[in-house]
Amino acid sequence: MSNKGITPREKSYPEWYLDVIEKAELAENSSVRGCMVIKPYGYAIWENIQKGLDRMIKESGAKNAYFPIFIPLSFLSREADHVKGFAKECAVVTHHRLKETADGKGVEVDPDSKLEEELIVRPTSETIMYDTFSTWIKSWRDLPLRINQWANIVRWEKRTRPFLRTAEFLWQEGHTVHLTHKEAQEEVKRALGMYVEFARQYLAMETYYGKKSDSEKFAGAVNTYGVEAMMQDGKALQFGTSHDLGQNFAKVFNIQFADKDGSLKSPWQTSWGVSTRMIGALVMTHSDDNGLVLPPSIAPIKVVLIPIFKDENKEKVLEYSRSVQKELSKSISNVELDDRDFVSPGFKFNEWEKKGVPVRIEIGQKEMEEGGVVIVRRDTSEKVKNGFGDLTEVVEKTLSDIQENLYNRSKELLISKTYRVEDFEELKNTFEKGKGFVRANWCGDPKCEENIKYHTKATTRCLTDDGVGIKGKCVYCGKDSSEEWIFAKAY
Ligand SMILES: [Zn+2]
Repeated sequence: MSNKGITPREKSYPEWYLDVIEKAELAENSSVRGCMVIKPYGYAIWENIQKGLDRMIKESGAKNAYFPIFIPLSFLSREADHVKGFAKECAVVTHHRLKETADGKGVEVDPDSKLEEELIVRPTSETIMYDTFSTWIKSWRDLPLRINQWANIVRWEKRTRPFLRTAEFLWQEGHTVHLTHKEAQEEVKRALGMYVEFARQYLAMETYYGKKSDSEKFAGAVNTYGVEAMMQDGKALQFGTSHDLGQNFAKVFNIQFADKDGSLKSPWQTSWGVSTRMIGALVMTHSDDNGLVLPPSIAPIKVVLIPIFKDENKEKVLEYSRSVQKELSKSISNVELDDRDFVSPGFKFNEWEKKGVPVRIEIGQKEMEEGGVVIVRRDTSEKVKNGFGDLTEVVEKTLSDIQENLYNRSKELLISKTYRVEDFEELKNTFEKGKGFVRANWCGDPKCEENIKYHTKATTRCLTDDGVGIKGKCVYCGKDSSEEWIFAKAY
């Protein structure tokens, strides 16, 4: 870790983001360009995300399974829009063997090992899964089918940023198959709602969510719905999507079921996913110039105890600290005691602050004599003394206050930086100055959307339910419109 401090957000938001990730030891670049190493502390956050979300996914009736990382090229190209959408970012396996070089000093690809059919490293798993689904599904009795997969994905990105955009990332992808379109549409909304609720409960984030425009939808989908969070710089980060696939994939992968009357029908499908991008969203939503700030629900360490001692009272302070840890651990998970004696308490304060641990408890000679501790909140830096008696209750209350405070801040930011605009001048001005989200009527013509993007770099993010039926004039062309869309510059 370098000694350089964290760049303040005011100075450079992108640099601040990279500094927070480095100082909190979440991830680092690898020798493979565009691929990151997720370090233990960053991975522990991902594991907590997985735990919470996996429970919600299973409650919906989905079961976890695992499919191959390789997809035959011919599978990917069966659905025309799908392959078009992913063609430019595919990693392709063409050979399966190496051989010694002529000089015997190294190895090279053996040209005789060329594969008959190239394999794509999965950019998403619709095709490989649905090929299998066509053998699993025979009758109406086999539906609905709900499968979820936790996996890694490769999309060959040139410009990358840790967690936000990397060539390889981790995610979950849910894939469901239904008897009717209505049932599939309900599933699409249910999955979207699950992500919104997960963001609220665990990540302490409020979001906008709704339908994406055609230009922003998933390649091969009839409709895509997305969850959009606002970062502190006013930019949008899409962290979850849910797709209505219609019968597009069912038809090209020959998924058919015999209905109750014996007739063969194509089912209706959905897919939905969230990725390690969520960690990027988490960092950018809550953190400050001192480093990472984590909501307690997702924090790998909820409470850190820092004993302050000298050689002469070391054992006594540590002993008292251990009794505090033992007491708190009865009802709070992940209470860490930092008993290192080769770094100063000040160094420890700084380190755990950068790592975003929600509550720090300081224990020195004075606290020990008084039979108490000092509690410090990461989100507000508020410092209070507390006795031993009701300590667990007070710490639990503090953790839930922090969770609530972070959520409220996120909600306030979202509301205070969303502007309703009436015409294009106003839209341009808002994006030049304000940096936030804009609500504006749009006629639905992709040309207007393209022009807005060209002039402002902002894109349509989503059409929320309450934006449907809002009458006005298209912010670009002035035609009548009854849909108020959310526009933003996006990560
Ligand atoms: Zn228009």
